[in-house]
Amino acid sequence: MSIIPLWNWCLTVLIETGNKKILVDTGATGIALTHNLGLLGLSFDDIDVIFLSHGHYDHTGGLPATKGKIITHHHAFCERSLVAKQDVSVDLTGPAPNGDHHSLEYQRGPVKLAEGVITTGEINRIHDWEELSIFRIKKNEEEEVDRVWDDQAVIINSEYGLVIVAGCSHAGIINTIKHAMKITGENNGAYKHLLRHWRFSSYRSGGGQN
Ligand SMILES: [Zn+2]
Ligand SMILES: [Zn+2]
Repeated sequence: MSIIPLWNWCLTVLIETGNKKILVDTGATGIALTHNLGLLGLSFDDIDVIFLSHGHYDHTGGLPATKGKIITHHHAFCERSLVAKQDVSVDLTGPAPNGDHHSLEYQRGPVKLAEGVITTGEINRIHDWEELSIFRIKKNEEEEVDRVWDDQAVIINSEYGLVIVAGCSHAGIINTIKHAMKITGENNGAYKHLLRHWRFSSYRSGGGQN
């Protein structure tokens, strides 16, 4: 086996605390994930929970290679697409979990994953200039504009301040940071690190969506 880590367009982050190993997202195919996990001397048996930041395939495509407990939002496995301009649609749907290999927990509010590690839940969207209206979601056979309400981040309350692990940040990265500061009570701007693979969108006002 190659000892060189593999890279592909996607996101997977391993968070290790004292006694927990948390995988945030699974990449686009699972090839790089499985390989790189092996380089760390780990297998999926060592992972306590897989948290999916949202349902786009570059974050969930590796699911078939995994097993264990999954926590995510209830929109994560809906059909999704990106419509950049009229008649140009890109399918963003990821694979569904496998009932034989996964246990599934849907959460739309913050969840404690380990000591000092929580999810944001649905992110309060304050700034309307952070949203792109190019996404679509299919629910109950009806396609509608997708504001990507499943977009959630993970917050690590470290000795250095808040560390935020975000996916695409469709909710908007500033909205995400403000939300993280609000729900942790860390309102002194103490976040030090931000880990995400790109900013893609954000928002309007109001709460979540069914
Ligand atoms: Zn992405
Ligand atoms: Zn995305």
